[in-house]
This record gives sequence, C-alpha cells and structure tokens, in this order.
Amino acid sequence: MSRFLKEALVSLDAYIPGEQPQDKKYIKLNTNESPYPPSKLVVERITEEEIEKLKLYSDPTCSRLKSKLAALFGVEKENVFISNGSDEVLSFSFLAFCDGNKGMAFPDISYGFYKVYAELYGVPYERIPLRDDFSVAKEDYFHLDKNIVIANPNAPTGLALSRTEVEEIVTKNDNLVIIDEAYVDFGGESCIPLTKKYGNLLVVGTFSKSRSLAGARLGFAVGNTEIIADLEKVKYSTNPYNINRISQIAGEAAIDDNGYYMANAARIIETRDKTAGELKRLGFEVIPSKANFIFAKHSEISGAELYLKLKENGILVRHFSAPRIDAYLRITVGTPEEMSTFVETVDRIIGR
Ligand code: PMP
Repeated sequence: MSRFLKEALVSLDAYIPGEQPQDKKYIKLNTNESPYPPSKLVVERITEEEIEKLKLYSDPTCSRLKSKLAALFGVEKENVFISNGSDEVLSFSFLAFCDGNKGMAFPDISYGFYKVYAELYGVPYERIPLRDDFSVAKEDYFHLDKNIVIANPNAPTGLALSRTEVEEIVTKNDNLVIIDEAYVDFGGESCIPLTKKYGNLLVVGTFSKSRSLAGARLGFAVGNTEIIADLEKVKYSTNPYNINRISQIAGEAAIDDNGYYMANAARIIETRDKTAGELKRLGFEVIPSKANFIFAKHSEISGAELYLKLKENGILVRHFSAPRIDAYLRITVGTPEEMSTFVETVDRIIGR
C-alpha cells in the first residue's frame, strides 16, 4: 500500500477471483466457465480485417449487439445496457443507485462482489441470512428501505427463486430490485419479461457462463429506459468505449448462434444431474442446483482438505472458507469426461 491511498480504501478487502493457473494444466472446475468453446460463427467473424480495425475505437453505443439482444429478449434497444462483464454493470448499479443514504440488501451467502462494491462506494449494506437449507426467504425482502440485489440462481448454492417469487419481491418494494441472472440458462426462470411491467426491476446477465465468452468480458442489463439511461450516464462518465471491437463481434455472433449455446446448456444440465447423483452415491450431501455448478459436502472429509487433495490430483474446484459454507465445495460442471475423472478421483480420495 502506498502512502497515497485514500483513507476509505485502506481497510477495503478486494474481491478474490478464483485461480486462473497459467502454468500447469488442470481440469478446471473452479470459476463456472463453460467447458465448450465459442461457436464456429464466433471464430469465423473475428477476421483479419476486424483485427486490423483495432486501430479504431469500438462503437461506444454497442448498437448492433444491443439490437440483437433486444430482439432475443423481446424488448427495445433502449431497454438494454452492455457492460464489460456483468461485474461492470453491477459496479455501475451500486455507483448509480446507492449512496450513504440508500443502501443495498443481499443474501448473506451470495456472490462475494456485492459486499466489495458496497464497501468500495461507501454504501451501507444489509446481509440477509439464507434459510438453514440455503434457500432465499422471499418475505425477508419485502418492504425494505434499501435497494436489493439477488443472484438468481444464487451462487455458490445454485438454488433459485421462481419468477413469481421475484415478482412478489418487486411489487413489495419501492426501491430498485436487481436480479443477477448469471446462471439462469441452466434451469432458472428469467425475470426479463417482468421488466416490461415494473419500473423498479433491473435484470443483469452475462456471456461468461452459458455463452462461452468469459474471456471476452461481456455482460448486459435489461430494464426500463430511465434505469438504462442512468447506467449509460455512469458509463459515459467513466469509460465510453467499455466494450472492445472483438468482444462486440463475438457477442453478436453468439446471439446469432443462440441455438448452439442453448444446446450446450442442456448438455451441462444433463452432466450436472448425473454428477450430482454420483456424488450422492459417494455419500455427499448435494444442494439441488439450477446452475452450472454443484455445491456439495461430505461428512468424512473437510472442504479444505478435499479441495487440496483434488488440486494435487490436477483438478481445481472452489472452496470458500466462510462461516456456514466452509464444509462445502463448489464444483463447476465440465464435460462428461471431465466429470467422470472428477468423480473417480473423489472416490479414490475418500476411499483412501
Ligand atoms: N454474478 C454472479 C452471481 C457470478 O457468479 C459472476 C461470476 N463470477 C458474475 C456475476 C460476474 O461474471 P462476469 O463479470 O464474468 O459477467
């Protein structure tokens, strides 16, 4: 830390991303990426000509990508915001809609970045405990004096609220409700249709999970035109060219090839459910997941030990040493072959 760092940031604990090893080759089941590559259309559209155009700035309005997303979701272009990963639009939301007087509420066990943004921007926050079974108790979010952000499906549990439950939360609040749908394509119910009905709902999504573009950094949000205009104001006050040329092209091609990605999501769901069954047979307690990961614990080995043993065996998963969840591992669903290797390795470790 330098002597120049401002007081407010001195005690800030930054977000710690999952490991992205650059040396050894692991079976990588730790950051919820897709095991499947971007579609051929994405590769075809990134031509030499487009690479040469990198000398020019990208389209700050992301016009083509916005049109395609709007058509996919049945909304208008003015209802869509494009961000550099969904992390950016989440960050912008804290910046635009919260301050010292307007806080943010979110589940106590959820995406770790919500707390970091609140602390970064000096926003008071309330962490609302999940039920003992890790589900979100919708009633706990009625009539709050804060904005609300809920990952749905939630991370790292994989449990989801129904659209009807989210609608109840939205109608029982006057403040902004942000639904983070990073994992929705793996079995959740999207709340995008509700954004036409309610002016206090913002739905956030990403190309990082079901659309195999984590490295391109593309996220989006859908909401009413005023909310989107507010987000644009923050973007044009920080980084107008937030989406690079290549990522815009990749995102457009991914939407054009939507069927490929939805078929991959279906494969991932199938692999997830098969793997969950196998883990249960090995004595794991498995939380029923609607995401591309499995949250599971075993009574005979700690989460920390199993994480380390798997790593020694070339398999990376995620372990959180936080209260209530430190016995668990979050395991991203890979290809069927990767998951067979994973299950065999776990079987060997616990059978020691
Ligand atoms: N929301 C949730 C719930 C996540 O797990 C993640 C991925 N770490 C994100 C948002 C951010 O993803 P990205 O910035 O890659 O879109």
